[in-house]
Amino acid sequence: MTYLATSLIHADDKDNRVSDVAPPINVATTFRYDNSNLEICDESECIEEMDRNPVYSRCGHPNATRVESVLSKVLDGYAVVYNTGVSSFYAAMVHFNPKRLFIGESYHGVRAIADIMTRNYGLEQHKLEDIEKFAQPGDLIHIESPVNPYGVSVNIQEYADKAHAKGATLIVDATFAPPPLQDTWKFGADIIVYSATKYFGGHSDLLAGVLVTKDHTVYNKLKVDRMYLGTIIGNLESFLLLRSLRTYEMRISKQSENATKIVNFLKDNMEKYKNVLKHVYHSSLQKENFVKEQATGGHTPVFSITLQNVEQAKHFPSKLKLFQHATSLGGVESLVEWRALSDPEIDQTLLRFSIGCENADDLIEDLKQGFEKTLA
Ligand SMILES: *Cc1c(COP(=O)(O)O)cnc(C)c1O
Repeated sequence: MTYLATSLIHADDKDNRVSDVAPPINVATTFRYDNSNLEICDESECIEEMDRNPVYSRCGHPNATRVESVLSKVLDGYAVVYNTGVSSFYAAMVHFNPKRLFIGESYHGVRAIADIMTRNYGLEQHKLEDIEKFAQPGDLIHIESPVNPYGVSVNIQEYADKAHAKGATLIVDATFAPPPLQDTWKFGADIIVYSATKYFGGHSDLLAGVLVTKDHTVYNKLKVDRMYLGTIIGNLESFLLLRSLRTYEMRISKQSENATKIVNFLKDNMEKYKNVLKHVYHSSLQKENFVKEQATGGHTPVFSITLQNVEQAKHFPSKLKLFQHATSLGGVESLVEWRALSDPEIDQTLLRFSIGCENADDLIEDLKQGFEKTLA
């Protein structure tokens, strides 16, 4: 057993192919067969063989294999890496092929995939509140914790119990709080999805996603499906993601600490800025017991605030100097987003913040001057 920081740097040592300390960027799509060993294997054996001896990069390629070695270790399961977070959710939908999907507040792109499946194949969609009423064996329950865009924790165990009582499967999108912040397995998740574009990537320069399962059969099937759906992570992105993973723990720990400090500042200054600031959402402000149990490694670096009116919310990002007005999250740079620009269903007074690795006091100063300019 090694600690997280060590695994991030060494879990893929076994995949070394050359003596380079930094793994090379492999751009090859095809690899020479070993003419001295031309065994024909069946599909599921091929999967593991292709990780050792790559054949064609849609099936597997050296840095994707390394990324999967690291993520399997640190996410405590079998990790399958995809070209985006949404394609990893799509892969889960294709694999489980549920008749009914129970879904509530969640990432809009994930809901959009469900809508495509409803349009094309008649997938039934229900609210999370209706699990007891309508769920049947083979159905899929999808939750996010912490949930986008609020950064508020959802009681995972409660949904695991509800799903399992009906013979349904619980998929948890834990993009907002990967380990060490939250150990999602501990609360009954059957499969976990992460957008690796966010914290694992961490530099706003690559797209990737990952599904993690404890079940080797599911893992094999996902890999075979991925080979034919063509949704494996790209060559260059897998190199970038591997490089990012080396420093992942330092980054997310700092981001989590920073966010909690900033949220505390906001909470302590609600009265002072009451003509701008209406509400702050973050798991560090939740009082329920399950939140403490889930956020054992720290709180998500994402939080949201609402302002007193739409005009204030629309213009607040332009008043900030360090926070970039952009969508997405998880990068080393702090972002703010007037969320209405990318989620048509969201409250138009809401701003989502993704906290980076800057010094928290500088970020707090930036917010202070932003509030003061808004009040002026
Ligand atoms: C970004 C995000 C996704 C989608 O990931 P992509 O890598 O952009 O495809 C899914 N779920 C959550 C919670 C996200 O934040």
